Amino acid sequence: MSQQVDNIKPSYPLFRDEEYKDMLARKRDDFEEKHPQDKIDEVFQWTTTQEYQELNFAREALTVNPAKACQPLGAVLCSLGFEKTMPYVHGSQGCVAYFRTYFNRHFREPVSCVSDSMTEDAAVFGGQQNMKDGLQNCKATYKPDMIAVSTTCMAEVIGDDLNAFINNSKKEGFLEQDYPVPYAHTPSFVGSHVTGWDNMFEGIARYFTLNYMEDKVVGSNGKVNIVPGFETYLGNFRVIKRMLKEMDVDYSFLSDPEEVLDTPADGQFRMYAGGTSQAEVKDAPNATTTLLLQPWQLEKTKKLVEGTWKHEVPKLSIPMGLDWTDEFLMKISEITGQPIPASLEKERGRLVDMITDSHTWLHGKKFAIWGDPDFVMGLAKFLLELGCEPTHILCNNGNKRWKKAMDAILEASPYGKDCTVYVGKDLWHLRSLVFTNKPDFMIGNSYGKFIQRDTLHKGKEFEVPLIRLGFPIFDRHHLHRQTTLGYEGAMQMLTTIVNSVLERLDEETRGMQTTDYNYDLVR
Ligand code: SF4
Repeated sequence: MSQQVDNIKPSYPLFRDEEYKDMLARKRDDFEEKHPQDKIDEVFQWTTTQEYQELNFAREALTVNPAKACQPLGAVLCSLGFEKTMPYVHGSQGCVAYFRTYFNRHFREPVSCVSDSMTEDAAVFGGQQNMKDGLQNCKATYKPDMIAVSTTCMAEVIGDDLNAFINNSKKEGFLEQDYPVPYAHTPSFVGSHVTGWDNMFEGIARYFTLNYMEDKVVGSNGKVNIVPGFETYLGNFRVIKRMLKEMDVDYSFLSDPEEVLDTPADGQFRMYAGGTSQAEVKDAPNATTTLLLQPWQLEKTKKLVEGTWKHEVPKLSIPMGLDWTDEFLMKISEITGQPIPASLEKERGRLVDMITDSHTWLHGKKFAIWGDPDFVMGLAKFLLELGCEPTHILCNNGNKRWKKAMDAILEASPYGKDCTVYVGKDLWHLRSLVFTNKPDFMIGNSYGKFIQRDTLHKGKEFEVPLIRLGFPIFDRHHLHRQTTLGYEGAMQMLTTIVNSVLERLDEETRGMQTTDYNYDLVR
């Protein structure tokens, strides 16, 4: 083998060495029953046609390259946002390994989360004993101040009753009676990771407030509550806090994993860091109101906030882009009586300046985008503000009401008229769409790289480059630390998008003595 101790090569370029090329070819021929290359090429070409697209869209019982994750994943993220809280998943160990690795790969941080490892016997007889032992072990080993319980498919299919199991665990002395164990049923065969976040938040808020409302008075603590929803851009926690600080507004961030997902490498492992305290959750009903940063995914939370806390939840969209950040700040100003400071006005002006600087390169550029409902809606709105033209918008976990609202936003702009919105579809559907109606770029998570590869395989002129914005991003580093909300987030997204456009233009115009008449130094 060509690997030498003083010259260790990674898989690429190692597998391009002749002996590896030969070995891989023999493996395909001898063991993989490879189809003839011309047949593979023929089928590939067919999958790029309109005829195939129609069959693809008639598909009912199979998801390929899904554009969502499952409920407990969202519940784990929500739980991580509370102080000294251990996310606990009642169900199979493999699911929890998946949640941890999903977050590890995205945040490049250790992510603490336990499971009670239900196996075959628990699947038949129920997982009550697993839960009793699991809760006791979790508290003894990791010493959290709260254990937040969610469920995997297995526990939901057999119908385990979390309320009864947790109460029995306490009654039988596995945990103290007053030890906080909020819970949420998070069946993965309905909803998605954003539903799981919503369910878990509602579970935690319910646990600490539902039966303790007698002494609560709306507005008495002078704060506003901020509920982020399933949010993975750490910069977004920071920018919202900064804007509120600049407005001199007192707030409670309800679920705040900013610290625990960004701990420093200083020799000390922090299983817990930062997060919303139990006292803050208990005090939350005393706030003036509660702002939901991603309202399309926080339906259950909204019900609790309005029904139990008696807050009037302002009707706002995700504070993404120019318009919706304006609305967000003006609403906060209206609620609190605090003026919008000159610093934020200046920041807004800088964003407008940036939009003006870049508009010639962005005007009329076509984009396919996908992701979660609020993110996609905010991104589409911002693209329209930039004069870009969304062509395909895909949101697996958007509902019919969301689609209607998205269509209305597109109809209100001259740049939105050629766009189609798809809900409940996956990235294999999107692959068909970008072959039959090619956009200039795609914006979404890392899974889009397979679509980019396939479009390039058909020919350079068919390639649709991927701009990475969303969740998860596994194949690039540190993007989760960026910001997408507020004027700052709009500036960062604009920078990413316009420079991707210019990068592509350079790529297309660097042909020596062919296209390089346009290979300009100044853009
Ligand atoms: S979909 Fe169900 S089985 Fe799969 S990881 Fe999620 S909870 Fe586990």
